[in-house]
Amino acid sequence: MGSRELFEEAKRYLVGGVNSPVRAMKPYPFFTARAKGARLYDVDGNSYIDYCLAYGPLILGHAHPEVVEAVRRQAELGTAYGTPTELEVEFAKLIVRTVPCAEMVRFVNTGTEATMAAIRLARGATGRKKILKFEGAFHGAHDYVLVKAGSGATTHGVPTSAGVPEEATRNTLLARFNDFQGVEEVFRRHGEELACVILEPVMGNAGCILPEEGFLKFLREVTSEAGALLIFDEVITGFRLSLGGAQEYYGVVPDMATLGKIAGGGLPIGILAGREELMQHLSPLGRVYQAGTFNGNPMSMAAGLAAVGVLAKEKPYGRLEEMGRRLRRGLEEVCQDAGVEARVYGVASMLQVYFTSSEVRDYESALKADAELFLRYQREMLKRGVFLPPSQYESCFLSTAHTGEEVELTLERAGEALREARA
Ligand SMILES: *Cc1c(COP(=O)(O)O)cnc(C)c1O
Repeated sequence: MGSRELFEEAKRYLVGGVNSPVRAMKPYPFFTARAKGARLYDVDGNSYIDYCLAYGPLILGHAHPEVVEAVRRQAELGTAYGTPTELEVEFAKLIVRTVPCAEMVRFVNTGTEATMAAIRLARGATGRKKILKFEGAFHGAHDYVLVKAGSGATTHGVPTSAGVPEEATRNTLLARFNDFQGVEEVFRRHGEELACVILEPVMGNAGCILPEEGFLKFLREVTSEAGALLIFDEVITGFRLSLGGAQEYYGVVPDMATLGKIAGGGLPIGILAGREELMQHLSPLGRVYQAGTFNGNPMSMAAGLAAVGVLAKEKPYGRLEEMGRRLRRGLEEVCQDAGVEARVYGVASMLQVYFTSSEVRDYESALKADAELFLRYQREMLKRGVFLPPSQYESCFLSTAHTGEEVELTLERAGEALREARA
């Protein structure tokens, strides 16, 4: 069956034909048959240069030989034990060695679980209820953080999703990213009630929005002064900006970090890492409960350890950054040549283009970009064998498997796609 037929079939059994809403594409998503390196191959016989990379995890590209071997080996040894394994110890050690804030680690199954546990831990450790998040920031699909990223800056949260009672988000405060004054205002009014500030140090779920000079350091200072904890949600940026993540890249160390995506080597994972004194509040040592049948499961441990091991050994970050810079500069030129107003943002191997003439520094300014033009551009790129995430509000990623030639080819295609999309 081809993608079109599969989608018709899928819609009968799966809600909207997909298992996660971002995968829905008009008129129908392509169904993937296999993937290798920087390429995805669909069931219709097309191949794509992949800049979605499963929404972030695949920094080594698809089916990296060392990861495949680790998974194969582990599968033969058993896939779940319900007992501790040496793999967990080894992987935790590697994380403590590489991630600045990490003194102890808890392995869970998804980024969603990691932020949920981090927030519970922050509340349990401080004895405070309120949390502060930024508009447009995504921390997984659980109740506390599914708060409308709208205009009501610094007001009490209103749930974005049906089924989340107001009571669940009443203690979730909002501020605008890069808004020093807005954050100060929240701290002036609620500083003593705030358990934590949770943020994506680079916002990767509203496109790609960078922290302005001094903003992360400022958050470090205001949280410390108020006795609130600083949580970096590094589910995207961890092992992406550098081996030590955004905290190493920008030189600001949070109290806790959540990791995921890349850390699982392409298998499901979530990680909560932080200072020992805080982590000890978690069960079984402490009174903050957290548990999971598949926590630290050997398949994810083997894949994650292999992937992070390759990153630690090969240190590909210089080359990735260079490729990212080339792609960003090239896209700016392509937009200019096509006469389309655009802003290209990114850092290391992340980037996004916004079709707007004004600066993008927070969610509100991101919403001003022409998201319709972006979708037409995305579709034209797909026709030309380049897979970009199908939303203005996702980030594009590069992997170590992408070549310079593929990047140049992508830029060529981008020029054609943009002229077609604009017409
Ligand atoms: C993807 C993501 C999550 C959620 O991770 P899942 O594994 O999808 O549950 C949390 N935070 C950020 C910043 C993410 O990008």
